[in-house]
Amino acid sequence: MKCTIERCPGTYEERTIVHTVKHQGQVIVIDRVPAEVCPICGDVLLKPATVRKNEDMLRVHKEPASMVPMYEYA
Ligand SMILES: [Zn+2]
Repeated sequence: MKCTIERCPGTYEERTIVHTVKHQGQVIVIDRVPAEVCPICGDVLLKPATVRKNEDMLRVHKEPASMVPMYEYA
């Protein structure tokens, strides 16, 4: 599918990404999320089903696969 960003000539490619969300004020990192990524401008699209799956996972408070260091820009 053609990139939706104006004047970008890119076409989305299927990739897996590291997806970061804020959930109840906490930063949550989800690795290996399937997404469509534009190789030209870097725009990322998640399918509605993928977004829903991520939300379900956060709602059930599943134990994280691992903990990651987090830094704040300063
Ligand atoms: Zn693009």
